[in-house]
Amino acid sequence: MKKQLSVIIPVHNEVESLDICYKRVTDVLKNIDLSYEILFIDDGSTDGSDLLLRKFALEDEQIMVIFLSRNFGKEAALSAGIDHVSGDYTIILDADLQDPPELIPQMLKVQKEKSVDVVLMRRKHRVGESYFKKQTAKWFYKILNRLSSFDIPEDIGDFRLMNKKAIDAMRKLPERNRYTKGLFAWIGMEIYILEYKRDSRVAGVAKQNYLKLFELAFEGISSFSIQPLRFSIYFGVLTAFLGFIFGFYIIFKTLFFGENVPGYPSLVAVITFLGGVQLIGIGILGEYIGKTYIETKTRPIYLVKEFVSKKAHNE
Ligand code: UDP
Ligand code: MG
Repeated sequence: MKKQLSVIIPVHNEVESLDICYKRVTDVLKNIDLSYEILFIDDGSTDGSDLLLRKFALEDEQIMVIFLSRNFGKEAALSAGIDHVSGDYTIILDADLQDPPELIPQMLKVQKEKSVDVVLMRRKHRVGESYFKKQTAKWFYKILNRLSSFDIPEDIGDFRLMNKKAIDAMRKLPERNRYTKGLFAWIGMEIYILEYKRDSRVAGVAKQNYLKLFELAFEGISSFSIQPLRFSIYFGVLTAFLGFIFGFYIIFKTLFFGENVPGYPSLVAVITFLGGVQLIGIGILGEYIGKTYIETKTRPIYLVKEFVSKKAHNE
């Protein structure tokens, strides 16, 4: 029997990209020597993407669609995909075609030749991204890798091929704070990295803005490292030590040179500075407590509203 390839495509309001996405992906998959399924995850689209996906699924036996009950975010949509694929190999693609499906045959070939568990796709050029975004991305990886106990490879998104072993490993991770990039790296396994040129979106706009990216960055750091908590301890010890020295200095100064009252501005400066430092420390602490709180509720990562495929429909 032929081996099977599954392709996961998360979709949130991508009505303009979907037709061409479906066509390009299908064109590629028809020409490889594997049977295939395409699993679209509709992550609470409100622009008509859902109607289009339903149409694909009812016309084409190879297509399945999982409709989530609302917008849960790309990370959750990917979890839904990973939980439901059945192929020997799984590839994750973005619906906006920033990850060219034409690279799939090459990914399969590399997997076979090197017999690795995961083929990662590294972006060579970030087309259509500003200098600022490139620079911030670079710094983010530097900090993240310094802080976490395993390496999260740079410039690698969700576009990847995984075999059954890697998919099974992903299914074992129960956390609700899903920083997929980190989770993918956490499982380890034999990997091989291919380089590719990431395209601009075919249509529509990216749903990530800078604030969201910053939040994602902090999410990444706090999900895989408790170093920030330790930093606030170090910083606390350092300021306490400096305060202590300063206290001694003032006592000696008063004993030997007498006291003249001025010093109000410096006092205010020190108070506001320390106040700020304390708030940051509490904020960091709160972040981790919040994460723990969310995890303890053990709510599901996503909820499925409906599962649509031609086979299921005809039964
Ligand atoms: N996406 C999703 N849920 C969301 C946001 C995005 O499933 O809440 C999908 C989106 O449809 C696309 C992919 O995730 O297929 C990547 O999204 P986007 O292009 O906005 O992000 P970027 O390319 O900047 O990573
Ligand atoms: Mg995109």
